[in-house]
Amino acid sequence: MSDIIRLLPDSVANQIAAGEVIQRPASVIKELVENSVDAGSTYIRIIIKDAGRTLIQVVDNGKGMSPTDARMAFERHATSKISNAKDLFSLHTMGFRGEALPSVCAISQIEVKTKTPEDPMGTRLIINGSKVESQEPVICDSGTNMMVKNLFFNVPARRKFLKSDSVEMSNILREFERLALVNNNIRMSLEYGEKRIDLRAATFKQRITDIWKNSIDKQLLPIEVDTAIVKISGFVSRPEFAKRRNPLQYLIVNGRNMRHPYFHKAVLSCYDSLIATDTQPCYFLKFEVDPSSIDVNIHPTKNEIKFEYEQQIWPILKASVKAALGHFGAVPSLDFTTDILPVKKLNEGEKPVQPKINLDPNYTPFISTEGKLHNKERGKVDREWESLYSDFMSAARGFGEQNSNREEKSLFPQDEADNSVGNLCIQHDQRFIITSALGKLTVIDQRKAHLKILYEDYLSHLEKNQIVTRKLMFPEYIQLDSGQAEVFPTIEPELRRIGFEIEFAGDSGAKISSVPAIIDNVDYADLVLSIYENIMDDDSNYGREVNSIKRINEKIALTMARKSAIPVKVRLTEDEMEHIVGRLFSLEQPGITPDGNRIFMTIESSQLESFFN
Ligand code: ADP
Ligand code: MG
Repeated sequence: MSDIIRLLPDSVANQIAAGEVIQRPASVIKELVENSVDAGSTYIRIIIKDAGRTLIQVVDNGKGMSPTDARMAFERHATSKISNAKDLFSLHTMGFRGEALPSVCAISQIEVKTKTPEDPMGTRLIINGSKVESQEPVICDSGTNMMVKNLFFNVPARRKFLKSDSVEMSNILREFERLALVNNNIRMSLEYGEKRIDLRAATFKQRITDIWKNSIDKQLLPIEVDTAIVKISGFVSRPEFAKRRNPLQYLIVNGRNMRHPYFHKAVLSCYDSLIATDTQPCYFLKFEVDPSSIDVNIHPTKNEIKFEYEQQIWPILKASVKAALGHFGAVPSLDFTTDILPVKKLNEGEKPVQPKINLDPNYTPFISTEGKLHNKERGKVDREWESLYSDFMSAARGFGEQNSNREEKSLFPQDEADNSVGNLCIQHDQRFIITSALGKLTVIDQRKAHLKILYEDYLSHLEKNQIVTRKLMFPEYIQLDSGQAEVFPTIEPELRRIGFEIEFAGDSGAKISSVPAIIDNVDYADLVLSIYENIMDDDSNYGREVNSIKRINEKIALTMARKSAIPVKVRLTEDEMEHIVGRLFSLEQPGITPDGNRIFMTIESSQLESFFN
């Protein structure tokens, strides 16, 4: 038999590698801009056409490449940043593997002009799907001008996988924000369509406010610690600015934006009793560590990182965030820019009186006296909850009527309800309903149960297209960032289908004039944005191929249920508990929430017996 194993040609190997490194136009931008940063540029210009489909151009004023280097740069494993395997482990180099350019050139048509400051002439190189078409001297500025055209032109499967222009553009804007934040000392601009964002070289704080506008300024609390193993600097947001959606959260390690779930948790835990449970703080943290103590090669796109001193950094991080929160009175405080202090003028002969301040000596920002929420927040939640609950009760009643001919699998048939002890519900810790169902001791998570009930309710409305639209007396406005504005028109029909009426007004925002009648008393702007995020997060090709209506319905129902379900912790009356239990167990699958969490647990009498024997 003849031999059958062959080596793949480089172009094919590169296409395979490209699958890992380049998922979408935004990934090309990341790789090109990082190269420009590494080349010591002080101004990086990005030009995008058709959301990166037809053109991604990055122009820098860095150190450029010699003619030979320009050619070499597109070879696999060609890098100027590491020279031996030892370098791999002393990663000043942040995971350089010389993979980006060969990957990009395997799936696009590239034209690059580059010149070093020393050379009088530059080089122009044209590469078409890994194949070098021409290389010639050219007159050009020092630096590198990289044009990536027709991304995925030779990989139809990948091209099809791209989402709509608006979604890809929104990804690009996110990536640009990340890159701009990390490289605050470099001037960076992004041109797309008629639009242009130009960010001056700035301090970290200026860059944050340049990107996210000045209003973010007063939310920021500075952080600064310097220890032998790590230097942490940057900002966390004041608790009162915690966000329900899209919190800005950035962890920058040695100049690269990284994901680190463990440290993310550390930051969040500092806010534990300071903010509502469905909100998150923003943070912009820079870590400087010894490069040999981190490993960024665990992920092909190099955005996950491992720290050697993770255990030691954790308490340092927590302490510094807590210090910032405590130090700067991150509890409600006077805003000196707007509040006028009532200072009375002294009359002649009058003695000044020491002002009295009402301090609660027992107050600490880290332990709230009433459960998870602060008093202010709590009052709000209670009120919302009351009205939510009354809706829920009427919905529950309505449900009973509609289904009166259906065989209710209720555990508590009406006739037994009065004298049976089976329906006794006890609330534990304001969170769990304890009852006896099907002869077992049953402990139910109240919020999860309510969420499941609402979800099934909303879903059946959506599936039957029984959407009644209700006009808002006072329209609500949504403020969109540029990425969201880009995507919004794509999901508008979807929102219309479920009963929203929304008008868009360019970048600045949108007006909600009507809402689905089945939901009441929620923050509609927030709901709309959550629905939008939920749909966008989906990996299926939303906006290109029709995402199956069923899936979208499920997502919308889940988002609405999450917004309307009762809080994790709230006191329930016995009636309320009975209704929840009754409705839950009339569902086909009472055991599991739509997002896959358990709703209740049971203990058999026999288990109880064996415990006592
Ligand atoms: P890596 O960045 O991991 O080294 P790349 O494939 O991204 O791998 O780049 C290969 C090499 O090409 C780099 O090491 C660098 O020497 C050179 N290079 C790429 N982009 C630029 C640029 N904008 N300016 C100067 N040199 C560049
Ligand atoms: Mg690179």
